[in-house]
Amino acid sequence: MAAAPTLSYSGFRAYAECPLRWKFLYLDHLREKPRSFFSFGRSVHAALERFVAPLVAEGEPPAKGAGGQRTLRDFSGPASGPSPAPMDLAGLLDLYRAEWVSEGYLSAQEEQGYFDLGIDLLTRFHSAYVREAPRPVAVEKDLRAELEGVPIHGIVDRLDRTEGGGLEVLDYKTSKELSLKDAQVSDQLTLYQVLVEQNYDRPVESLTLYHLRSLSALRTPRRPPEAIQDLGIRLGEVSDGIRSGHYEPRAGPWCRWCDFRPVCPEFKEVPAGSRDRVAALVDRYAELLSERRRARQEMEAINEELEGLARSLGVHRFRGRNLSLHRQARRSWRFPPEATLPLLRAHDLESRAGGGDPERTAALLRDPEVPARLRRELAGQGKLELTYTWEPDGNDPS
Ligand code: SF4
Repeated sequence: MAAAPTLSYSGFRAYAECPLRWKFLYLDHLREKPRSFFSFGRSVHAALERFVAPLVAEGEPPAKGAGGQRTLRDFSGPASGPSPAPMDLAGLLDLYRAEWVSEGYLSAQEEQGYFDLGIDLLTRFHSAYVREAPRPVAVEKDLRAELEGVPIHGIVDRLDRTEGGGLEVLDYKTSKELSLKDAQVSDQLTLYQVLVEQNYDRPVESLTLYHLRSLSALRTPRRPPEAIQDLGIRLGEVSDGIRSGHYEPRAGPWCRWCDFRPVCPEFKEVPAGSRDRVAALVDRYAELLSERRRARQEMEAINEELEGLARSLGVHRFRGRNLSLHRQARRSWRFPPEATLPLLRAHDLESRAGGGDPERTAALLRDPEVPARLRRELAGQGKLELTYTWEPDGNDPS
């Protein structure tokens, strides 16, 4: 198998949604069409990066040994004394104009609309930033780490020092809608917590999606260990899939925005020369499916009638001209959950019984590790039921 790939949040998400789309993007390096909202987001991010970079406090907090990838931006502020004053609004808007990305807009009118939106939100961002005077310690910080053996990578928009001496991870969002719930379930923020804590000596105290359109800091506490472990397991699954070269398409709502539909097997058209043969096969398959449905219904009806005859005649073998059928009994247990579950719980057997699953509970009745007395008690609460089917007779005595 290939070496474990280094996963960014976007790569992880792309593969988790659709492995084939991941391959198109990360192995085949196919380009996606430029889009207005991506260009707008890039323009605003770039302006904010250049606005905040000169305000980054020197050496605070210390990065960890060789693993800490410090950049000049971490050290561009003074070592002590008052924080440097942010540039004025005109300076920020000049940066925005210089960083404007013009591609992907459907019309000059649409581009102008987005541009004006950026002016408005950056104007409001500037006044809030000056008022709140946060203490940034890094911007656009490129970090690498490892989670559950999977190499990970990410660029953190902004890292602030908190009042308590810890760190706050901020990720700017220019999307229309964003809620606190988005921040609470964001895998991206969980990944950033791991990246930051493996590179800095101070703990992450909060994780924030900063919604620029409403100037709302959607702030959540640091993730608990279970959330990190859960993400680690899912990263491992993605990493294993990539290392094994599994790139099956997985169609879903994300296909609506996928640029690769023309080359994707889920959406590609059958070439003209094969269409007739394919149509004939599909139509025949449909006929067989409906025959199978009809056959099933008829077999159920025959099964029922044979069962009635077996009971009334007291005969378990029926002979036809070409085949004999023998009545087969199938045993299955039923366990009333209200009686069985407390007993299973009391003996710490609930998960082994699949939460009361009848087949797994019945398996405990034959398990020598379960005390005989408990097995009898369980059996006493259950009911053994028999169902009958008719199968070709392999031991026809005649
Ligand atoms: S169209 Fe859908 S299934 Fe096909 S590559 Fe794109 S996301 Fe995957």
